[in-house]
Amino acid sequence: MLEPHAPANPYAVLVSTRNAHKLVEIRQILGLAFELLDLSCVPALGEVEETGETFEENAALKALAASAHFGGWVLADDSGLEVDALGGAPGVRSARFSGEGATDASNRALLLEKLAGVPSNQRAARFRCVIALARGGEVLAHFSGSVEGAIIGSEKGAGGFGYDPLFVPEGFSETFAELSADTKNSLSHRGRALAAMKVWPGWVR
Ligand code: IMP
Repeated sequence: MLEPHAPANPYAVLVSTRNAHKLVEIRQILGLAFELLDLSCVPALGEVEETGETFEENAALKALAASAHFGGWVLADDSGLEVDALGGAPGVRSARFSGEGATDASNRALLLEKLAGVPSNQRAARFRCVIALARGGEVLAHFSGSVEGAIIGSEKGAGGFGYDPLFVPEGFSETFAELSADTKNSLSHRGRALAAMKVWPGWVR
């Protein structure tokens, strides 16, 4: 078996995601604090099946899969939307909510369909994000973040990705797709999980 590829920079972190939007946000949030690498560094890594029942399990699966091919730090993000009126759905199935071949647009359309007729005071929801950090084939830490808000009745805004045009965070009247990237990142589930990761004492090992 090939030795896992070791990065030249020991502080480089490989981001184990094929979601280009997540990678952009993670880069914006972490800024220059870390050198971030993408999955082009591990061409041998195939598609990782997200078979876990929790964000934590799926984040760990994605981090460990990349860690088998890469000798440095690996970060994986598993995230999604929980809607109270739907018993917490789509949750860990957020990316595949509308089934085989789901797109962000088809997922949003299905969400609006399921919430049709639900009054605005019963449309509470939250985004959750769990970041798993692995090294040497072992998950060394998890960090989580969430943001409360509500699902509106039709799409608003052109920024962001996924369910952003339908999600209004608490304390705001705009959706995540209308707010600037800086504002979204300062209060988002991903921003909060990564803020906790930044100050993790284990970086010194
Ligand atoms: P994952 O790749 O299994 O973690 O799927 C994450 C899915 O959750 C995405 O495809 C989006 O549908 C949704 N999601 C996660 N984070 C966000 C966000 O910041 N904005 C909008 N949708 C998100």
